[in-house]
Amino acid sequence: MGANSYYVTTPIYYVNAEPHLGHAYSTMAADVLARHMRQRGADVFFLTGTDEHGEPIETAAEREGVTPQELADRNAAKFEELMPIIDVTNDFFIRTSDPRHKERVAEIMQRVYDNGWVRRGIWEGWYCPRCADFKTERELGPGNTCPIHEIELVKQREENWFFRLSAFQAQLEGLYEERPDFVVPEFRRNEAVAFIKGGLEDVSLSRPSLKWGLPLPWDPEQRMYVWFDALLNYVTALGFAREGEDLTGRYWPADLHVMAKDILKFHAVIWPALLWAADLEVPKRMAIHGFLLMGEKKMSKSLGNVLDPFEAIDRFGADALRFYCFREVSFGQDGSISTAGFEGRYETELANDYGNLASRVLAMVDRYRDGVVPVAQVDATLAEDFEGAAGRVRELLDRAELTQALEVVWTLVRRLNRFVEETRPWELARDEADPERLDEVLYNLVEGLRVTTLLLVPYLPRTSETLLAALAEEGRALAELGSREGGQKVERVPPLFPKIES
Ligand SMILES: [Zn+2]
Repeated sequence: MGANSYYVTTPIYYVNAEPHLGHAYSTMAADVLARHMRQRGADVFFLTGTDEHGEPIETAAEREGVTPQELADRNAAKFEELMPIIDVTNDFFIRTSDPRHKERVAEIMQRVYDNGWVRRGIWEGWYCPRCADFKTERELGPGNTCPIHEIELVKQREENWFFRLSAFQAQLEGLYEERPDFVVPEFRRNEAVAFIKGGLEDVSLSRPSLKWGLPLPWDPEQRMYVWFDALLNYVTALGFAREGEDLTGRYWPADLHVMAKDILKFHAVIWPALLWAADLEVPKRMAIHGFLLMGEKKMSKSLGNVLDPFEAIDRFGADALRFYCFREVSFGQDGSISTAGFEGRYETELANDYGNLASRVLAMVDRYRDGVVPVAQVDATLAEDFEGAAGRVRELLDRAELTQALEVVWTLVRRLNRFVEETRPWELARDEADPERLDEVLYNLVEGLRVTTLLLVPYLPRTSETLLAALAEEGRALAELGSREGGQKVERVPPLFPKIES
């Protein structure tokens, strides 16, 4: 792994349906972290993509009268199209039906087999075709249902291959002891630990009846559960994302896997064991987020309460969507979102607190100083409130605390608004009684706006570009108040968050 490398991933999205806000949410979160790390000068690799095998795809394709590959192609294209729309800066988009992925999965799984970590066996258990996963007794909902899909499950019995997860019991317990922040937030870590301490059973690796899946290299009659092929994308992608180059040494182990809580078990329990079984290092950290709820339930196609990210972006713009999601719901927790809440924050926070502040500051520099930022001293009281803010944001984002980091920045935005009210620059300008104080106030407002906007780059990529250009800020690295002297020519900006017609 490179000394300065930062490798962040999203889950790969299942192509049995079209993208919804839940997918956008995970991806935007990873993008906030990727952009922030680039600002810190890291050598970032950001991966997203689509998960294309398994019985749910087979069934959905059959229902529509197309081949699984046709269905996968059609929906994968929609996920790929989503990325620029939500301003996501992924370095590669992996599709698990890519032959280069399949080839590498076969190599890795053969190694798992050669190392002795699989065995034959009989599986009898509760199978959810939508999860493409067996449920243990303690995972079942009332009346033998899938707790996620709320459908009745059928008990199945068949001969297949098993991954010897139980053999990794002690090693997994050790991992969580040695690395207390392997999974964040902490309550998700505790769930993973509880699951492990409950006693691990071997997990089914393949099925004879599955058609749309990768064959086991040592027993091609059996096809791999989609989960194994899917998890391995994080490693295989590095082998072919850059033509003629293998990035594995530069980026593996991954710095961070971002995902929703429903796939915690696969990532936090099975994934490290599978990596050890294949002689690979485990990732450094996983950040687990909750569900965005409309009313009570998780957004999903099958529950029919989908908020279309494309529609939201049409109305408010991608920046506003990114901002709203991380501002409204504490990242890591479940939380409710609503159109009314979205409109409220757009108006009060983006348009008023931030957009108006930027317009006012730049207009005053234009009007009172011909658009040239005065050269002046840092205001002591303002400096006190800005002190250490960038460092706090860095620390919070290192733990994937996206909402808390944004709150730190928003405190600065509010502080700058108070600074305007306290210093009343329009009064200082009236008779130029104290031109030095007016210089100082304007210089500090521009500095405050610049420092704040640099911190907002990951959350508001488009707005921050417009504003940083107007502020004549060339770099994108985080800055301290007063780290730039005055003297720059700045420009007025049009309203950054215009009124939305309802
Ligand atoms: Zn299910």
